[in-house]
Amino acid sequence: MSFQEFNLDTAILSGVKAVGYTTPTPIQQQAIPSIMEGKDLLGLAQTGTGKTAAFALPIIHHLIRHAGTRKVRALVVAPTRELAEQIHQACSDLAQDTRVTSIAIYGGVSKVPQLKGLRRNPEIMVACPGRLLDLVGDGAIDLSGIEVLVLDEADTMCDMGFLPDVRRILKLLPTKRQTLLFSATMPEDIRKLTADILHDHTTVQVDPIAPAKTVSHALYPVPEALKKGLLLALLEQTPAGRTLIFTRTKHRTKRLALDLANHKYRVASLQGNLSQNRRQQSMDGFKAGKFDILVATDIAAHGIDVPDLSHVINFDMPDTADAYTHRIGRTGRALQTGEAFTLAVPDDRPMVRVVEKVLNAKIERRRLPGFNYGDFDPEAQFPPDRFIQPQTNGRQFGGNPGNRRPASGQATRRRGPAVGISSGTPSVPRGPRPGNRQRPSGGRSRSA
Ligand code: AMP
Repeated sequence: MSFQEFNLDTAILSGVKAVGYTTPTPIQQQAIPSIMEGKDLLGLAQTGTGKTAAFALPIIHHLIRHAGTRKVRALVVAPTRELAEQIHQACSDLAQDTRVTSIAIYGGVSKVPQLKGLRRNPEIMVACPGRLLDLVGDGAIDLSGIEVLVLDEADTMCDMGFLPDVRRILKLLPTKRQTLLFSATMPEDIRKLTADILHDHTTVQVDPIAPAKTVSHALYPVPEALKKGLLLALLEQTPAGRTLIFTRTKHRTKRLALDLANHKYRVASLQGNLSQNRRQQSMDGFKAGKFDILVATDIAAHGIDVPDLSHVINFDMPDTADAYTHRIGRTGRALQTGEAFTLAVPDDRPMVRVVEKVLNAKIERRRLPGFNYGDFDPEAQFPPDRFIQPQTNGRQFGGNPGNRRPASGQATRRRGPAVGISSGTPSVPRGPRPGNRQRPSGGRSRSA
């Protein structure tokens, strides 16, 4: 199937071509025709499936083909600033050859540029609930012209306690509108919300465990005291690529990023205690290739999209199976392949069982070759249903052959500066610019 078959405006197809999409992803194939018919939609899909374009393309098409007011006409509500920024960017990219413009509205930064942007009458607004209500209260935003509403990552908004704000926003919108709700999971509150706001809707569901197909999962049993050592050894042996590491708390994120920086990794961190500017620097630097590793908490990293993310490492086991799927959804996106490593301590056994149930598969257990586990016996702690000691000629390992790089051209992680890892680090990262990024090939030599 091709994008031409949707009968999208040619200016949109030109944007699609410019961003490099050739084939619609399954959610796009299922959702776009129904949204273009004007129907409400429930999209059961997580990030990584291409859901942003699934709603952005028909919305841009609608805005081009139907005249409207000079007020905001399409509202996308998202839980985090990073996600709002990302959706805004996707809309701008896809609409680059049209007159449709978009704005991102979120807190933690000055209102002034946002107020200035609003004066340019953008038709699409991507907003986090708090700042949106704030600006509505200031009289700076009028939502009475909304024709299409998207609630993105509704389950995360629920987890983050935004549902009362969302319901307040709903009261400010015209009742005659098209509503699209996307959620990876359907907790009771979202089920209720769906029943309240969707009318005669279509449901599209894209493999709730989609990442499992393009991501190879591996579990590294380890005692808590050896976790950091194992991570360092793992990074040492893992082919370079962009790696996202998850920890349980903001403090652990900060600590681990500092430790990795001390080992000369090019690392940034993303956690709620950082200012929005620092968070943005971490994200931008990671996306631009200035940093090879991003250490993050679940909330801070929610919904972020980094192309070519090769590895997700759970330094700490997530609290829920949903969180596991969300984290792992960062890699193997849009049909790419990736690897997901989880460092599991004996206390994590119950959660491992839950995750395996959701994935409907046993996660491969691995013992890291050459690592000194001391008295700890990984096989005994996590029984060796499929216990694997990767034989990788000392260079690389990993379950999914699609993700392997040829040994001769193998890149290594370059070590360098860090950002966002402590109050003492400079706010602007030092070191090489993305364009100067070196990718030494062969072996795993380190550069300082
Ligand atoms: P999303 O689930 O919307 O966050 O999208 C995940 C990633 O897939 C983003 O990097 C998109 O740019 C990319 N993507 C979306 N649709 C397509 C497509 N049809 N072909 C290739 N990549 C896509």
